[in-house]
Amino acid sequence: MEIKNIIFLLVLLAALGIFGYTARKVFGYLKIGKPENRFDHFDKRIGNVIAIALGQTKIFRDSVAGPIHAGIFWGFMILLLAVTESIGEGLIPGFSFSFLGPLYKVIAAATDLIALVVLVAVIFALFRRHVAGPKRLRELDRPSQMDATLILFAISLIMLSMFVQNGTRIALGDGADIAGSWRPISLMVAGMFGASGSTHVIYEIAWWVHIVLVLGFLNFLPYSKHFHVITSIHNVYFSNRGIRHEGDGALKPLDLEDETAKKFGANDVEDLTWKQLFDSYTCTHCGRCTSVCPANITGKLLSPKKIIVDTRTRFEEKAPLVTNGVEDAPELQKQLLHDFITPQELWACTTCRACVQECPVMIEHVDEIVDLRRYLALTEGEFPEQLQVLYRNLENNFAPWQFSPEDRGAWADGLEIPTLAELGSAQEIDYLFWVGCSGSFDARYKKVSVALA
Ligand code: SF4
Ligand code: SF4
Repeated sequence: MEIKNIIFLLVLLAALGIFGYTARKVFGYLKIGKPENRFDHFDKRIGNVIAIALGQTKIFRDSVAGPIHAGIFWGFMILLLAVTESIGEGLIPGFSFSFLGPLYKVIAAATDLIALVVLVAVIFALFRRHVAGPKRLRELDRPSQMDATLILFAISLIMLSMFVQNGTRIALGDGADIAGSWRPISLMVAGMFGASGSTHVIYEIAWWVHIVLVLGFLNFLPYSKHFHVITSIHNVYFSNRGIRHEGDGALKPLDLEDETAKKFGANDVEDLTWKQLFDSYTCTHCGRCTSVCPANITGKLLSPKKIIVDTRTRFEEKAPLVTNGVEDAPELQKQLLHDFITPQELWACTTCRACVQECPVMIEHVDEIVDLRRYLALTEGEFPEQLQVLYRNLENNFAPWQFSPEDRGAWADGLEIPTLAELGSAQEIDYLFWVGCSGSFDARYKKVSVALA
């Protein structure tokens, strides 16, 4: 082992140690959330990962940003191999995956081309973010914009240093890179260097820049919005799409008969499930959810992205205190509801689920919005004035309007349609026509009921 390998081993152990400590801490915070089983249906969850995370099917619905993001994602998957090789090279002099034979040459060519695609995609992403992209990207708050820009610069430096590293290795011509002729971009870079001592120094500098940036990037992730690089595949795995009714649009049932419940719904992060908290780690801040939200589009306060971002802010503020047993801190006087997310935002939601449909990393906004709203309605007894009339009517008339329940079946007078109560048993019938309130009371819809019956 050379001195370089020993230094690198120490750097690697330090970087992995810090990352392990941070990851243990931030994932440990999820324990303050409520339990929920998302570990069943392995086959269906893997199916979701293949289609949505690896196949990037949702991302491709956006014809401009889709290919860019998918390019970056797939590129990273292949570049992981190159990073692994660099790490191996740091530990064992002359290490490479060349033992893979012809496959190594294909990987080398793919890595080179993908690194170029990633570089172009990153430059385009920077252009969209700062010069001529959609408003949702250019008008991000300053910390989010800084975070994104820093990460994009880091990615481009990682790619550039890789080209210099490979190019100088080829230029040194010591046969160390058996796939040198398969790396088109690195070959061009190699043309700028001769087989000299200074080229060797540049090679070493490029190698260290590359590897230190990769390890630094890894450690920066948990503190940035780019934490999704680590969590998004897992979040897709844990989604309930195609697994439970809630994953496909149904609201979570609520046990109103539970006499032990101290409150209904959620007003702070401990009332959310660990998965809802994990959602907040996974948001990429892409803004797709808000750009399709009908409430937001029509000028209401609601932004589903803000709901998720606020949840992470509150979660990161409160979880360390709760985890460390702190009982007296100003932050503990606050709560997610009211201090971060207002009732006006929550009541603007139509529960249409367009946000969930569009979110590329399967974040479940509606469940959280409804949980917070349930707290407002059932625990605080606070809801908009329009709903007060509705709730009173539901309580007194079993319908949203002031019609007598006695008249519910009046639309069918003279049609001789038997009711289930008259038949006495569901065994006797093939079809049950569920007329609903509009079909029973609304003048226009009553005609529809008659026509259908
Ligand atoms: S479910 Fe609510 S938050 Fe989501 S898009 Fe529809 S209105 Fe907006
Ligand atoms: S919640 Fe999903 S769609 Fe909305 S900003 Fe975050 S990642 Fe994008």
